Amino acid sequence: MSDRKVRNIYTAFPEGKHKVLTLSYDDGKIPDRRLVALFNEYGLKGTFNVNSGLEDIPFEEAYNERIPTSEYKELYKGHEIACHTVTHPTIARCPREQQIQQVLEDRRALEEIMHRPIRGMAYPNGSFDDTVVETLKACGIVHSRTVNSTLSFAMPQDFLRWNPTCSHRHPDLMKLTREFLDLHKTQYLYMLYVWGHSYEFERDDNWNVIETFAKEVSNKDDIWYATNIEIVDYLDAANRIQVSVNGDFAYNPSATDVWLEVDKKAILCKGGVTTEL
Ligand SMILES: [Zn+2]
Repeated sequence: MSDRKVRNIYTAFPEGKHKVLTLSYDDGKIPDRRLVALFNEYGLKGTFNVNSGLEDIPFEEAYNERIPTSEYKELYKGHEIACHTVTHPTIARCPREQQIQQVLEDRRALEEIMHRPIRGMAYPNGSFDDTVVETLKACGIVHSRTVNSTLSFAMPQDFLRWNPTCSHRHPDLMKLTREFLDLHKTQYLYMLYVWGHSYEFERDDNWNVIETFAKEVSNKDDIWYATNIEIVDYLDAANRIQVSVNGDFAYNPSATDVWLEVDKKAILCKGGVTTEL
């Protein structure tokens, strides 16, 4: 017994990576077109939180026009579409019945458009409380973003109270980004999570902020570029992996391939099979 070696086995992101970059943009306004094109050019992945019931509301500034819902499927291909409620109320202030309607009807409408399950959300106006979180659970929502910046890279404790690292408007965006790029210790999983609204680049005439950011973070071998739901679903599969006490094999009961880091070596555990570690 005493001469047995206890192995260091860690959960890893795909391909054994330990850093993930994710982005989250709200309201589905016209400048999303330029933002999605930029993300696609640099291989970045985002979650776009949209309101299914605001397509026809009047606007004054051109950047406040909403993307027609008929464009969603094509425009947001490769990214995640998530709920932002039907009409963007400060939801914690709404009666429970309204909360349910605002979330479930948004989900239903978006699913009809996208023809895939919609399981994410961002809190409109950043508004939520414990009751809202319970409502989301009952509506099948598994992750929802707040507007509370952590200014750090820790993985969230609770995906339904998912605090981002910072908004792109934060003065320390590039300082934080460089810190993230420089993280080489692999004891922890790290996340850089940036959020905002694409119309802000138009309104503030500062597309260079996100262009500089995208250029700097793209094409890094040690970063996994993922949407919010890809992170949730991947970690869900990773948490279900069954590793032997000896640490010499692992069974992956899910259909999702999962990576482990075993004594600093990345090992792929394919879905549905037992892998020797
Ligand atoms: Zn919003």
